[in-house]
Amino acid sequence: MADIGFIGLGIMGKPMSRNLLKAGYSLVVYDIFPGPVAELVDAGAAHGASCAAVASQAEIVITMLPDGPEVETAILGAGGVLEGARPGTVVVDMSSISPTVSQKVGAACEAKGVDFIDAPVSGGEPKAIDGTLAIMAGGKPEVFARVEPVLQKMGSSVTLTGAVGAGNVTKLANQIMVACNIAAMGEALVLATKAGLDPEVVFNAVKGGLAGSTVLNAKAPMVISRNFKPGFRINLHEKDLRNALQAAEAMKVSLPFTSMAQQILIALMNDGKGNLDHSAIVTFIEQMAGVEVKKPQA
Ligand code: NAD
Repeated sequence: MADIGFIGLGIMGKPMSRNLLKAGYSLVVYDIFPGPVAELVDAGAAHGASCAAVASQAEIVITMLPDGPEVETAILGAGGVLEGARPGTVVVDMSSISPTVSQKVGAACEAKGVDFIDAPVSGGEPKAIDGTLAIMAGGKPEVFARVEPVLQKMGSSVTLTGAVGAGNVTKLANQIMVACNIAAMGEALVLATKAGLDPEVVFNAVKGGLAGSTVLNAKAPMVISRNFKPGFRINLHEKDLRNALQAAEAMKVSLPFTSMAQQILIALMNDGKGNLDHSAIVTFIEQMAGVEVKKPQA
């Protein structure tokens, strides 16, 4: 038996699982791609042959997958977590998915006596590596208490926000703020560059004032240096805004800025940029202005 099963070893899951190993937990891991599994096995984890095999060997099972369909396949599907998990196991889904899917998966777990927490994260790859993610959880307080010490090894802020699904509602709120912030930053830097200013000087001038933000500090230097290596991919952010807009529509909530940001992300995906970092939102605004945000030539 391992302390923790970890399924999904991508940009986020790989460093998160490494931090659990470093903290002294024993891990059994699985991904549909063998490459990252081999890296974790080299670092000391055991290899589970399937999601069910991972669940049969661990008391806590963490999933870190792209979106709802992958989470449903990995947990509810054939050879999935629920085929291997025993009653009393806790499944912690840390993927960013629709709150409705979290509730569906949570109910299926509960029917088998398995506890479920949704616990999506914010902070991206750098904070996944540092173990300083912001983790926003949904579930029963007594279940959350069982997994909180584990979550604290991956994040510097771990908050129970409500019942199952509440973690992903909070994450959608987070993603709306991040997308609209990047778009506003893009418009601001495009304007300043077109006016002949050095965008780095503008960034340094405003970052200590009210416009300063974690988004600005993380993304403006990437834009100015033309480094759009993900980080957080445009196609994943489009997925989050789609989930936000679907949830909003179900509640008859109007989200005009989110809707516009999603349209920009779709256009960028059609332009072959879906796998770039979401800071590349700025390239859409640049095209409309006929200018590129970068330091002026000396
Ligand atoms: P990723 O695409 O890099 O990793 C996903 C991993 O899941 C891949 O290794 C893939 O092979 C694996 N996978 C897919 N289906 C599977 C299945 N059925 N069984 C087992 N493994 C399977 O994505 P990521 O960037 O690590 O993001 C994961 C989640 O975290 C997403 O929901 C994303 O929105 C969220 N997130 C990402 C970031 C970021 O900056 N990358 C930040 C916060 C939240």
